[in-house]
Amino acid sequence: VPIMAEIVKEFHFEAAHFLPRVHETHKCKNLHGHSYTVKIRAVGPVNPETGWVFDFGQLKEVMNPLLAKLDHQVLNNVAGLENPTCENVAIWILENLHAHNPYIAAVTIVATHSAEVTVRNWREPQNVS
Ligand SMILES: [Zn+2]
Repeated sequence: VPIMAEIVKEFHFEAAHFLPRVHETHKCKNLHGHSYTVKIRAVGPVNPETGWVFDFGQLKEVMNPLLAKLDHQVLNNVAGLENPTCENVAIWILENLHAHNPYIAAVTIVATHSAEVTVRNWREPQNVS
């Protein structure tokens, strides 16, 4: 039985957004910005040869093009993020990452000092041989 490990890597980007579906009087109806923190959580077997689940650098490689689409943008203009709640931003990242890395277990978005959202991978867990 392989030893499983959970690894987390943190990324940052800055962006503007507004929430189009909230009530007119809701403050998030107005365009405003956040310094977002993204935490990518992956769970997988420790490869006995390399001693790791996978290289953190590999995560950076797949995250960089995604972050380039988000950083200093109005998130509402990004395809798939017309309603850019933290939940939807996390789902957008999760869906884009999953194709590249089957071990991605969850994406957490921190938008303010007191609020964060975690979306877990709803797909079938990978079979570990
Ligand atoms: Zn906001």
